[in-house]
Amino acid sequence: MFLSRRQFLKVSVGTVAAAAVADKVLALTALQPVIEVGNPLGDYPDRSWERVYHDQYRYDSSFTWVCSPNDTHACRVRAFVRNGVVMRVEQNYDHQTYEDLYGNRGTFAHNPRMCLKGFTFHRRVYGPYRLKGPLMRKGWKQWMDDGSPELTPETKRKYKFDSRFLDDMLRVSWDTAFTYAAKAMIIIATRYSGEAGARRLREQGYAPEMIEMMKGAGTRCFKHRAGMPVLGIIGKMGNTRMNGGINALLDSWIRKVSPDQAQGGRYWSNYTWHGDQNPSQPFWSGVQGSDIDLSDMRFSKLNTSWGKNFVENKMPEAHWKLECIERGARVVVITPEYNPTAYRADYWMPLRPQSDGALFMGAMKIIIDENMHDVDFLKQFTDAPILIRTDTLQYLDPRDVVPDYKFPDFSKSYSGRIQALKPQDVERLGGMMVWDLNKKQAVPLHREQVGWHYMNSG
Ligand code: SF4
Repeated sequence: MFLSRRQFLKVSVGTVAAAAVADKVLALTALQPVIEVGNPLGDYPDRSWERVYHDQYRYDSSFTWVCSPNDTHACRVRAFVRNGVVMRVEQNYDHQTYEDLYGNRGTFAHNPRMCLKGFTFHRRVYGPYRLKGPLMRKGWKQWMDDGSPELTPETKRKYKFDSRFLDDMLRVSWDTAFTYAAKAMIIIATRYSGEAGARRLREQGYAPEMIEMMKGAGTRCFKHRAGMPVLGIIGKMGNTRMNGGINALLDSWIRKVSPDQAQGGRYWSNYTWHGDQNPSQPFWSGVQGSDIDLSDMRFSKLNTSWGKNFVENKMPEAHWKLECIERGARVVVITPEYNPTAYRADYWMPLRPQSDGALFMGAMKIIIDENMHDVDFLKQFTDAPILIRTDTLQYLDPRDVVPDYKFPDFSKSYSGRIQALKPQDVERLGGMMVWDLNKKQAVPLHREQVGWHYMNSG
């Protein structure tokens, strides 16, 4: 279509005028509120998106259990389940309901417990790294398949006994794992039985006392110990039966000995295994120790952590320590490293390794020099005057220096009646001596001379 200049201008002006009128109408319409909204939050057209947040905490059911993955804290916790999956784990805040057989109860102050490991436990349960079946080290399997050759430096290198961390782990079936474990038990128990086994152990540098306690049974090589969390079920019902029952059967089969001669393995508790049995434990003293209740810490005026990083290693108990700080206690931390417990302390004492003893002795000296000790208590319960041999670093035993020394008869006293110690046990435990200032000589001190017996012994 051809438009003259005049016609084009006419059309353009008309179009602009119409657009201007329409624009004005539209502009006025846009200024009108669409809907009257009194409370935007109350009338917001679509708030379903909020459900996403609300639903995060929705659950179908919940249950409590005692968390005990590999520590001794045993926090009581609650899991919340949705669609059959544990969504989150929280503390249950019910420690005040705990009661022992004698009716002693915890208090509200025991809450809260738990740590970040516990809070994320379900993630590990469902996580991709959870171990769901047996693994076997490739080099060890090869060693077994090759007939378990003697472990010389060369074979150790070949089968990576000296570099296990460089080896691969193979997924195997339970059948394979059990078969290889059983075969290995037979091989090891056979190899270390009898005189040939004792010779091997001597060549490997084991102490004569340890070899003597083998009693010729290779099964005594086996040390069984359940991990911390399974001391109950697996430890007492599984591992000890394996240790004392199956191993003894194996021994009777290998050495052809009668049931009364058969030897099981050795069951070690966690603490004997770790070597951190404290000196008040029955392992040492024969008397049941009384472990402290950490809740006592909140009442302390001077709170000392020696070698313990409370905040990081005793997580659910650390709040007792923090509470004693709130109550004005002085806190001392004696650790080589400046850890999260140390930076809460009034005094952090970084020790060089092997100097703990010197610090102990120095503290004892100051306490006694400045007369800050409880003399009556010390006279009854200290073991500080017990004489130590400088050559063996063992107690000086009366049998070492007193001709024909005989231990007292304990059969009718505490050691015999309560602790069930027989004369041979007393002989094995040995005796002690102290320096008698009146007689100016070393005199025997026996195991029942504690408390007022100790004080009255002169
Ligand atoms: S401290 Fe942590 S890991 Fe240990 S039992 Fe408590 S919640 Fe579980």
